[in-house]
Amino acid sequence: MTTDDDPAVRPDDLTVRLKTYEGLPAAVAVRGKDPVNLPMIRHWCEALGDTNPAYAGPDAVAPPTMLQAWTMGGLSGHAEPADGTSPAGHPDPAGHPDPAGHPHPPGRTQAYDDLLSLLDEAGCTSVVATDCEQEYVRPLRPGDEVTFDTVVESVTGPKTTKLGTGYFVTTRTDVRVSEGLAGTHRFRILKYAPARTRQDPRPRRPRPVVNRDNAGFWDGVARHELLLQRCAACRTPRFPWLPGCPDCGSPDWDPFPARGDGTVHSYVVMHHPPFPAFDPPYAVVLVELAEGVRMVGNVVGVPYDKVRIGMPVRVEFRAYDDELVLPVFRAEEAS
Ligand code: ZN
Repeated sequence: MTTDDDPAVRPDDLTVRLKTYEGLPAAVAVRGKDPVNLPMIRHWCEALGDTNPAYAGPDAVAPPTMLQAWTMGGLSGHAEPADGTSPAGHPDPAGHPDPAGHPHPPGRTQAYDDLLSLLDEAGCTSVVATDCEQEYVRPLRPGDEVTFDTVVESVTGPKTTKLGTGYFVTTRTDVRVSEGLAGTHRFRILKYAPARTRQDPRPRRPRPVVNRDNAGFWDGVARHELLLQRCAACRTPRFPWLPGCPDCGSPDWDPFPARGDGTVHSYVVMHHPPFPAFDPPYAVVLVELAEGVRMVGNVVGVPYDKVRIGMPVRVEFRAYDDELVLPVFRAEEAS
């Protein structure tokens, strides 16, 4: 698909207009919702399994990768900027109109809302986060109060991806504490017009994200082989595919085929929200394979409300369309 195919996106004048937002503030002098604090640090470390002693005890620092966490407004957003002014009142250097009564979340500037609205109006109504870069200047410690400013660093495009055609919006957030800059968080989103598959009115299942680390797994699936990794140093099997061994750190590994049998370790039944290409209710199972690793998948051969923990299952491969094959788990007769 090219941009010419999609009347929803007219790149020429749109690109020019989008570029005028580069350098404008997206958030001004916003105060972090909570000071840097030990409970959030502990939850983060527990969720990530990070046992570094630097993040605990009376001299704890926050994990540097938590930088963004201290700036997030949550569902309710940020109350007010640190300097007490309304972000809507921030002067807009490019003179973009500030439509009266146009609501926007606290902490975000009118300019940034206008940029997103312009993309929405151009048909780029979907958004996906593409990447994030962080720079750490000084450690954050419990008690630190962070403030931050965000600027629209660049708007580039149009770019056509498998998702659709859209624009990359890169923002840079400078996170400060009283001593000065603590770090910088650069975040890029793709705001795009979803590609439509015209010959197939039924939405297709989402595609797996195949990268250098997991390509071998998906090559195996295409051949109807369920491949796991085994660490060449400590022999521990692992899944999902990773570049290094979580047990011993060795980067050396060999693929090997799983036997294919396992038991349901846990499951959920999806009722809501409905996703295109899925017909709720359906069960999603976490299977413990005979090799001791766990894998998420759909279960077949059993009604969704008859799935049980401990139920024996066996992998099989199902073609969902002409491109997509996925491993699924068939409930076996309990012996
Ligand atoms: Zn190992």
